Amino acid sequence: MEKFNQAAGLFVLTLILAINVGAALFISKFPPPGSFSTLFPAKNPWVREGKFGYGICNGVQCRLCPWNCFLPEGTRGRCRVRINQGGKLKTLVYSKAVSVHLDPMEKKPVYHLYPGSLIYSLAAPGCNLRCKSCQNWEISTIYPEEASAKSIVPVKINLVMDGLTRRIFGSLEHKEVETLAPEDIVNYSLATKSRSIAYTYSEPVVFYEYMLETAKLASEKGLKNVMISAGYINPGPLKELLKYMDIVKIDLKGFNSRFYKEYVSGELEPVKNTLLELKKNNALFEIVNLVAPGLNDDEESMKEMVLWIKKNLGKEVPVFFSRFSPNYQLQNIPATPVETLEKARNIALKEGLQYVYIGNVTGHPAEHTYCPRCKRVLIERYGYAVLKDLLTPNKGRCPYDGAKIPGIW
Ligand code: SF4
Repeated sequence: MEKFNQAAGLFVLTLILAINVGAALFISKFPPPGSFSTLFPAKNPWVREGKFGYGICNGVQCRLCPWNCFLPEGTRGRCRVRINQGGKLKTLVYSKAVSVHLDPMEKKPVYHLYPGSLIYSLAAPGCNLRCKSCQNWEISTIYPEEASAKSIVPVKINLVMDGLTRRIFGSLEHKEVETLAPEDIVNYSLATKSRSIAYTYSEPVVFYEYMLETAKLASEKGLKNVMISAGYINPGPLKELLKYMDIVKIDLKGFNSRFYKEYVSGELEPVKNTLLELKKNNALFEIVNLVAPGLNDDEESMKEMVLWIKKNLGKEVPVFFSRFSPNYQLQNIPATPVETLEKARNIALKEGLQYVYIGNVTGHPAEHTYCPRCKRVLIERYGYAVLKDLLTPNKGRCPYDGAKIPGIW
């Protein structure tokens, strides 16, 4: 009987292997619509070898993010921007910037890095999740070939002082480019008086090689690097990236597996793992949670999330509860009432989290950074503007009681 079971097991395994190899061979001969070989020009300036590709079963497995896509010849991953071409994993978006802006730091929002400074911000097409409330769906849901061939990018800021009021004004120079190479990003960041670079808007994980190379060059020039991400990345690639990333903002979209499945088309666990990895690697990071009425605003999961953060990441992690506005595929959900955000913040404060902000509500007192010890305002904000900053001149310490505030000041 035991021998029969072993033989049956072996037969099933062989059958599965044969089906996989057969499917891979079939797809390589007849690539599905939307694959590289049917839609993408054979030669283009944005293709580079991709990292974390492993040849298996007549195909390539991409191990950059938790989907671990298996790619037969000519097919793309779930993110639409990584492909098996000639048995090699390739990225299709190296230097393919689609949205490039000079933003205030507070717009990211990142509150514990150079308050009130400018940050050179860019995105490439693609995303490995499918959020129904995506604010940047025009760039995150497209194939790279659907993006405009050229982008307009800021290249220089000219500062002039008004003779009468002595106030300083800036005017930006722009340029139209087909490719935006890492060295260009660094040069334009410096020329626009940015102190840091943000990889943002879409999902930077899927333009990993482009981000990594830019971050390396930026670090050499004294610029800080900021990744704004949903945190859907495998631990190995994350660890490599953290050598150059100064602060990471993770969009923790909810704390409920069903919500992640239905509204994000992903899983919660990999995002929790990313947060644990960030903590393990002593990285500086902030968390943002977009609170949508009726979807992820129940008190129970809020409390569960806060307790998990406190226990596993510590009380010092800055947490934002941000207001949802009707968007993309969730036009029927109303904007979040401010009281809901305040309720979430109060839960977090009651549990002892020290830096809890409310996002997307201009003028709310929870935009400010408070000293966790003496409770005084240390950074006063109004929307994207910083009205008062007591931390930068005091090297990140509260001037009243000396408490050290985590961040780069
Ligand atoms: S980055 Fe993720 S979604 Fe894209 S090909 Fe790799 S494993 Fe798949």
